[in-house]
Amino acid sequence: MGSLTPLQKDIQRLAKANHTIIFSHNYQPPEIQAIADYVGDSFGLCQKAQQIEADTILFCGVRFMAETAAILNPDKLVLIPDPSARCPMAAQLPANLIQEAKKQHPGVPVVLYVNTTAEAKAEADVICTSSNLCIILKALDTNPVLFGPDGNMAEYAHHVCGYEVIPIPDYGFCHVHVTFSFDPQVLQWKETHPNAKLLVHPECAWNIQEQADFIGSTGQMLQYARASPNDTFIICTEVDLVTRMRSEMPEKTFIPALDYAICKAMKKITLEKVKASLLNNQYQVTVPKPIADKARMAIQRMLDLTS
Ligand code: SF4
Repeated sequence: MGSLTPLQKDIQRLAKANHTIIFSHNYQPPEIQAIADYVGDSFGLCQKAQQIEADTILFCGVRFMAETAAILNPDKLVLIPDPSARCPMAAQLPANLIQEAKKQHPGVPVVLYVNTTAEAKAEADVICTSSNLCIILKALDTNPVLFGPDGNMAEYAHHVCGYEVIPIPDYGFCHVHVTFSFDPQVLQWKETHPNAKLLVHPECAWNIQEQADFIGSTGQMLQYARASPNDTFIICTEVDLVTRMRSEMPEKTFIPALDYAICKAMKKITLEKVKASLLNNQYQVTVPKPIADKARMAIQRMLDLTS
């Protein structure tokens, strides 16, 4: 993105005056990424949330991400510009489903994807992200583990990490990433661009993952593309990762496998809402202390196992 608009400059001025750090997920639109202090995937932003010294974190993403920042920073104000920006996959795993699974499988460790509510995280032994699931499973080195909510990441755990997981719920999914399985266009790109590398997020179904040259988180896809001698990549994840890749690596070609793979929850954050958030300290993200204390232990264990 080129120079900033007056609204974007206003936002940066307000953020500085309020001692506020702006976080943006890689799936945010480019105009939001441009005003952020940090742009990254869930794991990268988790790590950053532990290190910053500002009074306030304004999170441009979905609620579970802002909750994670609030859990890691109980003394800081955490804001999300639109409280209705929620990940539908996180809603598929209420805490009571985990409690029931624990009763059915006593003593089996619970590994939860970061795309979960704070209440669900409080039931977990350890959290993981799409960038570190194999590392976490290897560190636990026990079969099986309870894992949720993403059924496609459960497949990834089996085929790529080599561990057995019991999924909770039976099949949780991201509606954006499962779309890649149902459109023949995805694999047609491989035929029309035989030298291109296919980069796939592990939230995609296994029939797409098994075609991939590389499977990883958005941050890992960026690293792969930066380091690769190849110049063309087909990207199976939310389209705005492609926006970031194109702007960072203009000499390379990035093809969104489906240009309609859009996470509407992420796009609820707009510049106008970010400005209103800064002006009015809205909307504050808080997690009740007993939940936050338990969830923090599970998140911290992930950070310790991956440091
Ligand atoms: S892309 Fe999927 S998993 Fe990610 S926030 Fe959107 S709905 Fe949730």
